[in-house]
Amino acid sequence: MKDDDSIFAHDESLGLAVRVRADKLHLLYHQSYPALYVSVLMALLLCQALWGQAQHGLLIGWLAAICIASVIRYFLFREHRRRKPTSLQILDWELPYAITLFIPSLVWGLGVLWIMIESALLYQVVAFCFLLGMAGGAVSLYSARRYMAVGAMASVLLPATVWMLLRGHAMEVSLGVASLIFMVVLLLTSTVLTRALGGNFRLAHRLAAAKQRAERLAQTDMLTGLDNRRAFFDHGQVLANYCERSRLPLCVVMIDADHFKQINDRYGHAAGDDVLCHLADKLKLSLRKSDVCGRMGGEEFAMLLPNTQLAEAKALAERFCQSYAATPAHCDGVEIANTVSIGVACDGYDIDHLLHCADEALYQAKAAGRNRVVSQACAG
Ligand code: GH3
Ligand code: MG
Ligand code: MG
Repeated sequence: MKDDDSIFAHDESLGLAVRVRADKLHLLYHQSYPALYVSVLMALLLCQALWGQAQHGLLIGWLAAICIASVIRYFLFREHRRRKPTSLQILDWELPYAITLFIPSLVWGLGVLWIMIESALLYQVVAFCFLLGMAGGAVSLYSARRYMAVGAMASVLLPATVWMLLRGHAMEVSLGVASLIFMVVLLLTSTVLTRALGGNFRLAHRLAAAKQRAERLAQTDMLTGLDNRRAFFDHGQVLANYCERSRLPLCVVMIDADHFKQINDRYGHAAGDDVLCHLADKLKLSLRKSDVCGRMGGEEFAMLLPNTQLAEAKALAERFCQSYAATPAHCDGVEIANTVSIGVACDGYDIDHLLHCADEALYQAKAAGRNRVVSQACAG
Protein backbone atom coordinates (compact mmCIF):
# COMPACT_ATOMS: atom_id res chain seq x y z
CA MET A 1 0.00 0.00 0.00
CA LYS A 2 1.34 3.47 -0.91
CA ASP A 3 1.93 6.08 1.84
CA ASP A 4 -0.97 8.15 0.56
CA ASP A 5 -3.21 5.14 0.77
CA SER A 6 -2.23 4.29 4.34
CA ILE A 7 -2.90 7.85 5.49
CA PHE A 8 -6.23 7.70 3.71
CA ALA A 9 -7.01 4.35 5.33
CA HIS A 10 -6.23 5.81 8.79
CA ASP A 11 -8.52 8.79 8.18
CA GLU A 12 -11.10 6.45 6.78
CA SER A 13 -11.08 4.20 9.84
CA LEU A 14 -11.44 7.26 12.13
CA GLY A 15 -14.36 8.46 10.02
CA LEU A 16 -15.78 4.97 9.95
CA ALA A 17 -15.91 4.75 13.75
CA VAL A 18 -17.85 8.02 13.91
CA ARG A 19 -20.21 6.98 11.14
CA VAL A 20 -20.87 3.62 12.80
CA ARG A 21 -21.63 5.45 16.08
CA ALA A 22 -24.07 7.64 14.17
CA ASP A 23 -25.71 4.58 12.57
CA LYS A 24 -26.19 3.01 15.98
CA LEU A 25 -27.89 6.16 17.27
CA HIS A 26 -30.18 6.29 14.24
CA LEU A 27 -31.12 2.68 14.97
CA LEU A 28 -31.75 3.42 18.65
CA TYR A 29 -34.01 6.35 17.88
CA HIS A 30 -35.97 4.39 15.30
CA GLN A 31 -36.53 1.27 17.37
CA SER A 32 -37.13 2.80 20.80
CA TYR A 33 -40.67 4.15 20.36
CA PRO A 34 -42.42 0.95 21.54
CA ALA A 35 -40.28 0.91 24.70
CA LEU A 36 -42.17 4.00 25.92
CA TYR A 37 -45.50 2.23 25.85
CA VAL A 38 -44.08 -1.04 27.17
CA SER A 39 -42.60 0.76 30.19
CA VAL A 40 -45.93 2.43 31.06
CA LEU A 41 -47.89 -0.77 30.41
CA MET A 42 -45.58 -2.86 32.60
CA ALA A 43 -45.75 -0.24 35.37
CA LEU A 44 -49.57 -0.34 35.18
CA LEU A 45 -49.59 -4.15 35.36
CA LEU A 46 -47.22 -4.14 38.34
CA CYS A 47 -49.37 -1.57 40.15
CA GLN A 48 -52.42 -3.69 39.51
CA ALA A 49 -50.60 -6.80 40.79
CA LEU A 50 -49.49 -5.01 43.98
CA TRP A 51 -52.69 -2.96 44.46
CA GLY A 52 -53.96 -5.18 47.30
CA GLN A 53 -50.63 -5.14 49.12
CA ALA A 54 -48.64 -1.91 48.72
CA GLN A 55 -49.77 1.58 49.74
CA HIS A 56 -51.93 3.10 47.00
CA GLY A 57 -50.28 6.51 47.30
CA LEU A 58 -46.89 4.90 46.81
CA LEU A 59 -48.02 3.00 43.71
CA ILE A 60 -49.71 6.05 42.19
CA GLY A 61 -46.70 8.26 42.89
CA TRP A 62 -44.35 5.74 41.25
CA LEU A 63 -46.67 5.24 38.28
CA ALA A 64 -46.88 9.02 37.84
CA ALA A 65 -43.05 9.26 37.86
CA ILE A 66 -42.84 6.55 35.17
CA CYS A 67 -45.47 8.35 33.06
CA ILE A 68 -43.70 11.73 33.38
CA ALA A 69 -40.34 10.18 32.41
CA SER A 70 -42.01 8.46 29.43
CA VAL A 71 -43.70 11.68 28.32
CA ILE A 72 -40.36 13.53 28.38
CA ARG A 73 -38.84 10.73 26.31
CA TYR A 74 -41.83 10.80 23.96
CA PHE A 75 -41.24 14.52 23.29
CA LEU A 76 -37.58 13.82 22.58
CA PHE A 77 -38.52 11.13 20.03
CA ARG A 78 -41.17 13.39 18.49
CA GLU A 79 -38.63 16.19 18.13
CA HIS A 80 -36.22 13.74 16.56
CA ARG A 81 -38.86 12.68 14.02
CA ARG A 82 -39.73 16.30 13.28
CA ARG A 83 -36.16 17.51 12.80
CA LYS A 84 -34.90 14.35 11.09
CA PRO A 85 -31.19 14.82 11.89
CA THR A 86 -29.17 13.52 8.97
CA SER A 87 -26.08 11.30 9.12
CA LEU A 88 -23.59 12.78 11.61
CA GLN A 89 -25.98 15.41 13.09
CA ILE A 90 -27.47 12.56 15.12
CA LEU A 91 -24.36 12.54 17.32
CA ASP A 92 -25.69 15.67 19.06
CA TRP A 93 -28.74 13.64 20.03
CA GLU A 94 -26.81 11.00 21.98
CA LEU A 95 -26.70 12.77 25.34
CA PRO A 96 -30.47 13.58 25.47
CA TYR A 97 -31.16 9.96 24.51
CA ALA A 98 -28.91 8.61 27.26
CA ILE A 99 -30.34 10.98 29.92
CA THR A 100 -33.96 10.18 29.06
CA LEU A 101 -33.06 6.48 29.10
CA PHE A 102 -31.29 6.43 32.47
CA ILE A 103 -33.92 8.53 34.32
CA PRO A 104 -36.85 6.11 33.72
CA SER A 105 -34.52 3.15 34.31
CA LEU A 106 -33.64 4.56 37.72
CA VAL A 107 -37.30 5.32 38.41
CA TRP A 108 -37.97 1.66 37.73
CA GLY A 109 -35.04 0.36 39.78
CA LEU A 110 -35.35 2.64 42.83
CA GLY A 111 -39.15 2.93 42.67
CA VAL A 112 -39.77 -0.83 42.65
CA LEU A 113 -37.23 -1.27 45.45
CA TRP A 114 -39.22 1.26 47.47
CA ILE A 115 -42.44 -0.65 46.79
CA MET A 116 -40.77 -4.02 47.55
CA ILE A 117 -39.58 -2.88 50.97
CA GLU A 118 -43.20 -2.26 51.87
CA SER A 119 -44.48 -5.62 50.52
CA ALA A 120 -44.63 -9.25 51.59
CA LEU A 121 -42.22 -11.80 50.12
CA LEU A 122 -44.61 -13.10 47.43
CA TYR A 123 -45.20 -9.56 46.17
CA GLN A 124 -41.50 -8.83 46.33
CA VAL A 125 -40.90 -11.82 44.06
CA VAL A 126 -43.60 -10.59 41.67
CA ALA A 127 -42.02 -7.12 41.56
CA PHE A 128 -38.58 -8.68 41.10
CA CYS A 129 -39.82 -10.67 38.09
CA PHE A 130 -40.98 -7.42 36.47
CA LEU A 131 -37.51 -5.95 37.04
CA LEU A 132 -35.84 -8.99 35.45
CA GLY A 133 -38.10 -8.63 32.40
CA MET A 134 -37.39 -4.91 32.08
CA ALA A 135 -33.62 -5.47 32.41
CA GLY A 136 -33.68 -8.21 29.72
CA GLY A 137 -35.69 -5.92 27.44
CA ALA A 138 -33.21 -3.08 27.99
CA VAL A 139 -30.29 -5.25 26.88
CA SER A 140 -32.03 -6.51 23.75
CA LEU A 141 -33.19 -3.01 22.82
CA TYR A 142 -30.20 -0.79 23.62
CA SER A 143 -27.22 -3.02 22.81
CA ALA A 144 -26.38 -0.86 19.79
CA ARG A 145 -24.67 1.37 22.41
CA ARG A 146 -23.29 -0.95 25.04
CA TYR A 147 -22.97 1.60 27.83
CA MET A 148 -26.65 2.39 27.42
CA ALA A 149 -27.67 -1.27 27.56
CA VAL A 150 -25.49 -1.97 30.59
CA GLY A 151 -26.40 1.31 32.31
CA ALA A 152 -30.14 0.76 31.82
CA MET A 153 -29.92 -2.86 32.98
CA ALA A 154 -27.91 -1.94 36.10
CA SER A 155 -30.22 0.99 36.95
CA VAL A 156 -33.26 -1.28 36.77
CA LEU A 157 -31.92 -4.38 38.50
CA LEU A 158 -29.00 -3.48 40.74
CA PRO A 159 -30.83 -1.61 43.57
CA ALA A 160 -33.26 -4.49 44.25
CA THR A 161 -30.50 -7.10 43.83
CA VAL A 162 -28.25 -5.42 46.40
CA TRP A 163 -31.21 -5.05 48.74
CA MET A 164 -32.04 -8.76 48.39
CA LEU A 165 -28.43 -9.77 49.07
CA LEU A 166 -28.26 -7.56 52.15
CA ARG A 167 -31.52 -8.92 53.61
CA GLY A 168 -29.80 -12.11 54.83
CA HIS A 169 -32.82 -14.46 54.45
CA ALA A 170 -31.88 -17.57 52.48
CA MET A 171 -34.62 -17.14 49.86
CA GLU A 172 -33.92 -13.48 49.24
CA VAL A 173 -30.16 -14.06 49.05
CA SER A 174 -30.80 -16.85 46.51
CA LEU A 175 -32.92 -14.43 44.45
CA GLY A 176 -30.15 -11.82 44.71
CA VAL A 177 -27.50 -14.31 43.59
CA ALA A 178 -29.73 -15.50 40.72
CA SER A 179 -30.18 -11.87 39.71
CA LEU A 180 -26.40 -11.33 39.74
CA ILE A 181 -25.94 -14.36 37.48
CA PHE A 182 -28.70 -13.05 35.21
CA MET A 183 -26.88 -9.71 35.02
CA VAL A 184 -23.61 -11.41 34.04
CA VAL A 185 -25.44 -13.31 31.28
CA LEU A 186 -27.02 -10.05 30.10
CA LEU A 187 -23.57 -8.39 30.08
CA LEU A 188 -22.20 -11.17 27.88
CA THR A 189 -25.26 -10.99 25.63
CA SER A 190 -24.93 -7.25 25.23
CA THR A 191 -21.23 -7.67 24.29
CA VAL A 192 -22.15 -10.16 21.55
CA LEU A 193 -25.03 -8.00 20.27
CA THR A 194 -22.94 -4.81 20.29
CA ARG A 195 -20.12 -6.49 18.35
CA ALA A 196 -22.49 -8.04 15.82
CA LEU A 197 -24.30 -4.74 15.19
CA GLY A 198 -21.03 -2.78 14.96
CA GLY A 199 -19.63 -5.36 12.54
CA ASN A 200 -22.71 -5.11 10.32
CA PHE A 201 -22.61 -1.32 10.22
CA ARG A 202 -18.86 -1.30 9.50
CA LEU A 203 -19.30 -3.82 6.71
CA ALA A 204 -22.15 -1.80 5.18
CA HIS A 205 -19.99 1.35 5.17
CA ARG A 206 -16.98 -0.47 3.72
CA LEU A 207 -19.12 -1.95 0.95
CA ALA A 208 -20.62 1.45 0.15
CA ALA A 209 -17.14 3.07 0.09
CA ALA A 210 -15.76 0.26 -2.10
CA LYS A 211 -18.70 0.64 -4.49
CA GLN A 212 -18.17 4.39 -4.66
CA ARG A 213 -14.47 3.91 -5.30
CA ALA A 214 -15.07 1.33 -8.01
CA GLU A 215 -17.59 3.63 -9.69
CA ARG A 216 -15.12 6.53 -9.54
CA LEU A 217 -12.35 4.37 -11.00
CA ALA A 218 -14.64 3.12 -13.76
CA GLN A 219 -15.34 6.73 -14.75
CA THR A 220 -11.85 8.20 -14.50
CA ASP A 221 -9.03 8.19 -17.01
CA MET A 222 -6.13 6.83 -14.96
CA LEU A 223 -3.42 8.88 -16.68
CA THR A 224 -4.97 12.34 -16.60
CA GLY A 225 -7.64 12.11 -13.91
CA LEU A 226 -10.23 13.50 -16.34
CA ASP A 227 -13.48 11.70 -17.15
CA ASN A 228 -12.92 8.74 -19.44
CA ARG A 229 -14.89 8.34 -22.65
CA ARG A 230 -17.79 6.51 -20.99
CA ALA A 231 -18.10 9.06 -18.16
CA PHE A 232 -17.89 11.90 -20.71
CA PHE A 233 -20.97 10.52 -22.46
CA ASP A 234 -22.79 9.82 -19.16
CA HIS A 235 -22.16 13.28 -17.71
CA GLY A 236 -22.53 14.90 -21.12
CA GLN A 237 -25.98 13.39 -21.62
CA VAL A 238 -27.16 14.82 -18.29
CA LEU A 239 -25.79 18.22 -19.29
CA ALA A 240 -27.33 18.05 -22.79
CA ASN A 241 -30.73 17.14 -21.32
CA TYR A 242 -30.50 20.06 -18.91
CA CYS A 243 -29.54 22.49 -21.72
CA GLU A 244 -32.37 21.22 -23.91
CA ARG A 245 -34.94 21.62 -21.13
CA SER A 246 -33.65 25.09 -20.29
CA ARG A 247 -33.21 26.12 -23.95
CA LEU A 248 -29.54 26.93 -23.40
CA PRO A 249 -26.95 26.73 -26.21
CA LEU A 250 -24.48 23.85 -25.96
CA CYS A 251 -21.05 23.73 -27.63
CA VAL A 252 -18.60 20.89 -28.12
CA VAL A 253 -14.85 21.46 -28.31
CA MET A 254 -12.53 18.69 -29.58
CA ILE A 255 -8.84 19.03 -28.86
CA ASP A 256 -6.12 16.90 -30.44
CA ALA A 257 -2.39 17.16 -29.71
CA ASP A 258 -0.38 17.88 -32.85
CA HIS A 259 2.27 15.49 -34.11
CA PHE A 260 2.12 13.62 -30.86
CA LYS A 261 3.65 10.50 -32.36
CA GLN A 262 6.82 12.51 -32.94
CA ILE A 263 6.96 13.43 -29.24
CA ASN A 264 6.79 9.76 -28.29
CA ASP A 265 9.39 8.88 -30.89
CA ARG A 266 11.76 11.64 -29.81
CA TYR A 267 11.39 11.73 -26.02
CA GLY A 268 9.92 8.32 -25.22
CA HIS A 269 6.46 7.13 -24.21
CA ALA A 270 6.85 8.18 -20.56
CA ALA A 271 7.63 11.76 -21.60
CA GLY A 272 4.63 11.56 -23.96
CA ASP A 273 2.49 10.61 -20.94
CA ASP A 274 3.82 13.64 -19.05
CA VAL A 275 2.88 15.91 -21.96
CA LEU A 276 -0.64 14.43 -21.98
CA CYS A 277 -0.93 15.14 -18.23
CA HIS A 278 0.32 18.68 -18.82
CA LEU A 279 -2.31 19.16 -21.51
CA ALA A 280 -5.02 17.71 -19.23
CA ASP A 281 -3.95 19.97 -16.34
CA LYS A 282 -4.22 23.02 -18.57
CA LEU A 283 -7.66 21.88 -19.70
CA LYS A 284 -8.78 21.46 -16.08
CA LEU A 285 -7.67 25.02 -15.34
CA SER A 286 -9.77 26.39 -18.19
CA LEU A 287 -12.91 24.49 -17.14
CA ARG A 288 -15.94 26.08 -15.52
CA LYS A 289 -17.74 24.08 -12.84
CA SER A 290 -20.60 23.29 -15.19
CA ASP A 291 -18.39 22.12 -18.10
CA VAL A 292 -17.82 18.46 -18.85
CA CYS A 293 -14.37 17.42 -20.03
CA GLY A 294 -12.99 13.99 -20.88
CA ARG A 295 -10.18 12.12 -22.56
CA MET A 296 -11.79 10.53 -25.58
CA GLY A 297 -8.79 8.29 -26.29
CA GLY A 298 -5.08 8.65 -27.08
CA GLU A 299 -4.14 12.33 -27.42
CA GLU A 300 -7.70 13.49 -28.02
CA PHE A 301 -9.88 15.38 -25.53
CA ALA A 302 -13.39 16.84 -25.64
CA MET A 303 -15.26 19.50 -23.71
CA LEU A 304 -18.97 20.28 -23.46
CA LEU A 305 -19.71 23.92 -22.72
CA PRO A 306 -23.28 24.62 -21.57
CA ASN A 307 -24.89 28.02 -21.98
CA THR A 308 -22.16 29.03 -24.44
CA GLN A 309 -22.61 30.50 -27.93
CA LEU A 310 -20.39 29.36 -30.83
CA ALA A 311 -18.44 32.65 -30.87
CA GLU A 312 -17.72 32.43 -27.13
CA ALA A 313 -16.62 28.80 -27.42
CA LYS A 314 -14.35 29.68 -30.34
CA ALA A 315 -12.79 32.56 -28.40
CA LEU A 316 -12.20 30.28 -25.42
CA ALA A 317 -10.65 27.61 -27.67
CA GLU A 318 -8.35 30.16 -29.31
CA ARG A 319 -7.16 31.45 -25.95
CA PHE A 320 -6.46 27.88 -24.89
CA CYS A 321 -4.67 27.05 -28.16
CA GLN A 322 -2.33 30.05 -27.81
CA SER A 323 -1.73 29.54 -24.13
CA TYR A 324 -0.90 25.84 -24.61
CA ALA A 325 1.51 26.54 -27.45
CA ALA A 326 3.27 29.10 -25.24
CA THR A 327 3.59 26.74 -22.23
CA PRO A 328 5.89 23.80 -22.85
CA ALA A 329 5.72 20.74 -20.63
CA HIS A 330 8.67 19.98 -18.32
CA CYS A 331 9.65 16.32 -18.27
CA ASP A 332 12.74 15.34 -16.27
CA GLY A 333 14.31 18.74 -16.84
CA VAL A 334 13.54 18.72 -20.56
CA GLU A 335 11.19 21.29 -22.07
CA ILE A 336 8.81 19.77 -24.59
CA ALA A 337 6.84 22.21 -26.70
CA ASN A 338 3.59 21.05 -28.23
CA THR A 339 0.54 22.51 -29.91
CA VAL A 340 -3.09 21.48 -30.27
CA SER A 341 -5.65 21.68 -33.05
CA ILE A 342 -9.21 22.36 -31.98
CA GLY A 343 -12.60 21.86 -33.59
CA VAL A 344 -15.64 23.67 -32.16
CA ALA A 345 -19.29 22.93 -32.96
CA CYS A 346 -22.56 24.29 -31.65
CA ASP A 347 -26.35 23.91 -32.06
CA GLY A 348 -28.44 20.92 -31.09
CA TYR A 349 -28.32 18.59 -28.12
CA ASP A 350 -27.37 15.28 -29.73
CA ILE A 351 -23.89 14.67 -28.33
CA ASP A 352 -22.88 12.16 -31.02
CA HIS A 353 -23.87 14.60 -33.73
CA LEU A 354 -22.14 17.53 -32.04
CA LEU A 355 -18.97 15.46 -31.61
CA HIS A 356 -19.12 14.46 -35.27
CA CYS A 357 -19.37 18.15 -36.31
CA ALA A 358 -16.53 19.14 -33.95
CA ASP A 359 -14.43 16.28 -35.37
CA GLU A 360 -15.00 17.60 -38.89
CA ALA A 361 -13.90 21.08 -37.76
CA LEU A 362 -10.86 19.52 -36.07
CA TYR A 363 -9.96 17.72 -39.30
CA GLN A 364 -10.11 21.07 -41.11
CA ALA A 365 -7.84 22.62 -38.45
CA LYS A 366 -5.32 19.82 -38.99
CA ALA A 367 -5.55 20.18 -42.77
CA ALA A 368 -5.06 23.94 -42.54
CA GLY A 369 -1.70 23.50 -40.77
CA ARG A 370 -2.51 22.60 -37.10
CA ASN A 371 -2.11 24.81 -33.98
CA ARG A 372 -5.39 26.52 -34.76
CA VAL A 373 -9.16 26.52 -34.11
CA VAL A 374 -11.91 25.89 -36.65
CA SER A 375 -15.53 26.30 -35.63
CA GLN A 376 -18.77 25.41 -37.34
CA ALA A 377 -22.46 25.55 -36.58
CA CYS A 378 -23.84 22.05 -36.47
CA ALA A 379 -26.89 22.01 -38.75
CA GLY A 380 -29.62 19.41 -38.17
P1 GH3 B 1 -1.79 14.65 -35.69
O1 GH3 B 1 -1.18 16.01 -35.54
O2 GH3 B 1 -2.29 14.39 -37.06
O3 GH3 B 1 -2.84 14.40 -34.67
O4 GH3 B 1 -0.62 13.62 -35.45
P2 GH3 B 1 -0.41 12.69 -34.24
O5 GH3 B 1 0.93 12.09 -34.30
O6 GH3 B 1 -0.75 13.41 -32.99
O7 GH3 B 1 -1.54 11.60 -34.45
P3 GH3 B 1 -1.43 10.07 -34.67
O8 GH3 B 1 -2.87 9.59 -34.62
O9 GH3 B 1 -0.65 9.72 -35.87
O10 GH3 B 1 -0.66 9.52 -33.38
C1 GH3 B 1 -1.17 9.63 -32.12
C2 GH3 B 1 -0.08 9.15 -31.19
O11 GH3 B 1 -0.48 9.31 -29.85
C3 GH3 B 1 0.25 7.70 -31.41
C4 GH3 B 1 0.14 7.07 -30.05
O12 GH3 B 1 1.23 6.24 -29.76
C5 GH3 B 1 0.14 8.25 -29.12
N1 GH3 B 1 -0.57 7.96 -27.92
C6 GH3 B 1 -1.87 7.59 -27.80
N2 GH3 B 1 -2.18 7.39 -26.49
C7 GH3 B 1 -1.05 7.65 -25.78
C8 GH3 B 1 -0.74 7.60 -24.40
O13 GH3 B 1 -1.55 7.31 -23.54
N3 GH3 B 1 0.52 7.93 -24.03
C9 GH3 B 1 1.47 8.26 -24.96
N4 GH3 B 1 2.69 8.58 -24.53
N5 GH3 B 1 1.20 8.29 -26.26
C10 GH3 B 1 -0.04 7.99 -26.69
MG1 MG C 1 -2.79 14.09 -32.68
MG1 MG D 1 -5.66 11.89 -32.66
